[in-house]
Amino acid sequence: MALFPTYNRFDLSVKTASGTIVEDVSGKKYIDFGTGIGVCNLGHRHPEVQKAIEEQLNKYWHVSNLYKNPIQEDVAKVITENSACDNVFFCNSGAEANEAAIKLARKVTGKDKIITFNQSFHGRTFATMAATGQEKVKTGFGPMLESFTYATFNDIESVKKAIDGKTAAIMLEVVQGEGGVIPANEDFIVDVQQLCKDQNILLIVDEIQTGIGRTGKKFGFEHYGLEPDIFTLAKGLGNGLPVGAMVAKKEYAADFGPGTHGSTFGGNPLAMAAAKAVLRVVFNDSFLQEIAIKADYLRSKLESEIKPLPTVKEIRQKGLMVGIECQENAGSYVPLLMEKGVLVLNAGQNVIRLLPPLTTTTEEMDQVISLIKETLEEVK
Ligand SMILES: *Cc1c(COP(=O)(O)O)cnc(C)c1O
Repeated sequence: MALFPTYNRFDLSVKTASGTIVEDVSGKKYIDFGTGIGVCNLGHRHPEVQKAIEEQLNKYWHVSNLYKNPIQEDVAKVITENSACDNVFFCNSGAEANEAAIKLARKVTGKDKIITFNQSFHGRTFATMAATGQEKVKTGFGPMLESFTYATFNDIESVKKAIDGKTAAIMLEVVQGEGGVIPANEDFIVDVQQLCKDQNILLIVDEIQTGIGRTGKKFGFEHYGLEPDIFTLAKGLGNGLPVGAMVAKKEYAADFGPGTHGSTFGGNPLAMAAAKAVLRVVFNDSFLQEIAIKADYLRSKLESEIKPLPTVKEIRQKGLMVGIECQENAGSYVPLLMEKGVLVLNAGQNVIRLLPPLTTTTEEMDQVISLIKETLEEVK
């Protein structure tokens, strides 16, 4: 095999995918409740997104950021009209969006220290790897970029202790995704925002997994009434086309002036066409209400069917972002579920993570819950 062995890949090669269903080369079908790690939030090849991409494919594929790009402006307008931020920088991935956020925070404040949290995940580039609060991501790559400090999630005292005169920003996920689907406590996050305001520290919210409808709101921070100074998007924004975005308040626009930052592919027209269609579908009150209804249904099913199982320790959920924490390592459940025709993810050590498409149906949720139940019962 000519690829780096960077991924422990399952023996599954996709032939086609549509909506929630993925079909492999042998013709076996799977219900996809992993959505390519929270990317295909509208299901595979959502017709409106597909149409937008096809139309753009017939116009042009790439223009340099040396020229105007009306589709970027359209997408940026929708994102900023729906948040308290005003300017968007487009890039191609989550890590790049966080990288841009970290650079901007340093430039704006003239300070270099960024506080992040244990179990956080912010990416794999040099700065975002250092920002990530997980040792396994860093092993062998040291020394890390300095000036990142890690506080304890949901513990405001640890944040207070970490702040000093050099602190530029606090960066967090409102629900830690890779770390195990751990939602922030309301009090904690409101206190963090207050600390930031009081001490002139920027609040950066990493919405890469929680954004674009995943938690039942346009952005996860809306659950907490937060107004971040900077937030980042990626995963669900393009529904499968690579795109990232760093979004910030207008006061910082001049710090990212001409020549300060850039990306050849950032804001690629095909990715922008996809993002524009995604936002048209997701940023719609009735669509968002539907997500909340589905999330409630899923919560009640999880509560009645999965929670009572002896292997299950705790279930955590925000919208259609679900973590089933097991008593022991949950790694073995993923291939067992795959055999039964369900794709799910792990998070942390002991957590089965579900990121169903926001377009999923009650029938699909019923099927998945019953197969998870069957699998967890077989093991114990
Ligand atoms: C996936 C993820 C990232 C990294 O995104 P990439 O596109 O893989 O670089 C960063 N932060 C969070 C919260 C994520 O879930």
